[in-house]
Amino acid sequence: MGAASLAALAACGGGDDRGLGPTTTTHTARLRGDPFGLGVASGDPTADSVILWARLAPTPLADDGRGGMPDDPVDVIWEVATDDRFTEVVARGVETALPEHAHSLHVDAGGLDPATDLHYRFRVGEWTSPVGRTRTLPDPGASPGRFGLAVANCQWLETGTYAAYRHMLDEDVDLVVHLGDYIYEYPGGKVLPTHQVATLADYRLRYASYRSDPHLRAAHARFPFVSTWDDHEVQNNHAGDTLEGGGTPEESAELRTAAYRAWWENLPVRLDPPDGASLRVHRHLDVGTLARLYLLDERQHAEEPPCRDEGTVGDVGPPCAAVDAVDRTYLGAEQEEWFGRALAESGATWDLVGNPVVVSGIDSGVDEPVQYMESWDGYPRARARFIEQVAGARNPVVLTGDYHQGMVLDLHERPFDVESEVVAPELMAPPISSLLFSDPVAARTPHLRQQVDAHGYLALSVEEERVTARFRVVDDVLDERTGISTAATWVVEPGERRARPA
Ligand code: FE
Ligand code: CA
Repeated sequence: MGAASLAALAACGGGDDRGLGPTTTTHTARLRGDPFGLGVASGDPTADSVILWARLAPTPLADDGRGGMPDDPVDVIWEVATDDRFTEVVARGVETALPEHAHSLHVDAGGLDPATDLHYRFRVGEWTSPVGRTRTLPDPGASPGRFGLAVANCQWLETGTYAAYRHMLDEDVDLVVHLGDYIYEYPGGKVLPTHQVATLADYRLRYASYRSDPHLRAAHARFPFVSTWDDHEVQNNHAGDTLEGGGTPEESAELRTAAYRAWWENLPVRLDPPDGASLRVHRHLDVGTLARLYLLDERQHAEEPPCRDEGTVGDVGPPCAAVDAVDRTYLGAEQEEWFGRALAESGATWDLVGNPVVVSGIDSGVDEPVQYMESWDGYPRARARFIEQVAGARNPVVLTGDYHQGMVLDLHERPFDVESEVVAPELMAPPISSLLFSDPVAARTPHLRQQVDAHGYLALSVEEERVTARFRVVDDVLDERTGISTAATWVVEPGERRARPA
């Protein structure tokens, strides 16, 4: 250790003269190198706090998923400042990174001013992290006038680059909403491990491998994220305690215990660590009085989708007779009740529903119906209740992912019955990098308003008078230097249940 870093250590040890709290570290460790190669992230902001994330990993791609860390707790100093030189530090403290959490940190940095741009960093021993930027939410009693969201999902790194994230850095975004498929569990080539992800070590390594991408790291360092998950954070098309290819509930629980833990460790979420195969992910954020944003979990609490025993491949095919025969829950009773209550209590101008899997219904068949039975299409009775809840909101807008297309759809009171009332616009964000499902669906999906067959993200500008949605699409997902353009712009106005092209 050189004299300069010794001086830095001395400067950050002990108490302070600005009333910010001590930064004394007791758990120290000799690290093999810079432990901040996975970058920094922030998430789940409130008006006065934000979660600050880092995961110590001097060897991020170590096979055992432990990032080259010793099996000991390590104290990390964190700081939040109004400037990127940290001359005006407004919050700081020490948090202990634990080996059982893969040395991840989820610091709840509080006492912050609302609607404020902030900088943060971490220090451990002689190492200082990259500087991240974040932003608190507006004051609960005030409307910010405008709030910028980017909606991202489906970022299979084997099939494309993160050029979309590179371009997102130029957007006027206050918060990134991630609707899931943050990783894919399939065998890797470009990413590690090379086999299908199955154990806690595998999942940890897969997240580290994805986070080795500089554009994804840059997006996390630039914007706070609020994240839910979809299926690939565990395994394709899993539902509740069932797996697509069979497998016992015990096997499902073992897989989900590993997957949930690694997801929690690697994302900047304001959630307690999972309890085995259980983690409450659904939650909402209030953007002042302008908007309430809901994050739903449409995998963990779902009952087994119908038709699996009738030979539908990948849960895709003509709906079987069983689809409407019984009531299968999709959200689970607790989440369903919570959602209804949170909507009823919302006083916001807009209710933005972060709904990972398409709800309006999609039929990609030619001669006969073809639907995904593990989407809302396989759960018609639960969907009817969900639609009734959404219909009761003042100005609902449904934000969707999963389908690997951009779409604008009308959510009807009775899906596929275009004579029934439209209750909300559904805006489907294009995938960041996953393979496109380019099949035209318009012929059998009459409530489809537009299909955008491209990679990118949805940029939302939320104002009192309107929500403007721009489908930002990259020219060539295989080229990280590719350009970006706006493929479509749609507007929703208060009191309108349908979007209109701008
Ligand atoms: Fe996906
Ligand atoms: Ca999915």
